[in-house]
Amino acid sequence: MNKNRQKFNKIFLILFLFLFLISCAGSPYTGRRQFLMISSEQEVALGEQAYNDMLLKVKLSKDKDLVEMVNRVGNRIAKVAERPDYNWEFSVIDDDNVANAFALPGGKTAVYTGILKYTADENGLAFVLAHEIAHALARHGAERMSQMMLLQLGQAGIGAALYSESEATQIAVSQAYNIASTVGITLPYSRTQEYEADHIGLILMAKAGYDPKTATAFFKRMLAGNSGGRPLEILSTHPADDKRLAELQALIPEARKYYKKRKN
Ligand SMILES: [Zn+2]
Repeated sequence: MNKNRQKFNKIFLILFLFLFLISCAGSPYTGRRQFLMISSEQEVALGEQAYNDMLLKVKLSKDKDLVEMVNRVGNRIAKVAERPDYNWEFSVIDDDNVANAFALPGGKTAVYTGILKYTADENGLAFVLAHEIAHALARHGAERMSQMMLLQLGQAGIGAALYSESEATQIAVSQAYNIASTVGITLPYSRTQEYEADHIGLILMAKAGYDPKTATAFFKRMLAGNSGGRPLEILSTHPADDKRLAELQALIPEARKYYKKRKN
């Protein structure tokens, strides 16, 4: 066997052992198995960094009532999220042209004022925040990053067979990290992740005392808002259509059990 071939095989052997060791993680509530190559600590550090970078570029809302409402709803959901290690923070970004929101690993969460005409009331806002928080709790950002790192490592593996393995691998990882710094803000989630965030989000809003039944009204407003003019930003990061609406509706009975339990 030639030397390059041996190097190539070695990288993939290490990678598969790594995969075997770390693929045991599961999402909260759904138990879906995930492939994760990033620790919770690394993910939280990236989340904090992305949040701080974002704060430098935006204008925060000075509307006291609005900021108070977003904090009130956000903190109610954070309370049932059972992550005491998260340092929760809720910001309102003053930009009526952006209909979007995000929650980053570590608990840093932001809402753009442009989404408020779709959320309409506290229930709508609760669904949006719970859905975003669900992405963070289920480590969807880390999952996307891990997929990218694997892809980059795969490419590096081929490069490494020809050149120096450590150097190529390092470049691949750093490239994946560079792209990863936008995870949760500009990188779209997968359909599986959207469905899971709806599932967990409905349960979280219910546990926080908001009726999950109200989520469909927001969803319909959002889909209707997208039919005219330019596409809504939230749909570029959170893919949605009538199929997702149907899936969302099917998840409501389970979530309502948590809501009724909370009300009793
Ligand atoms: Zn989403």
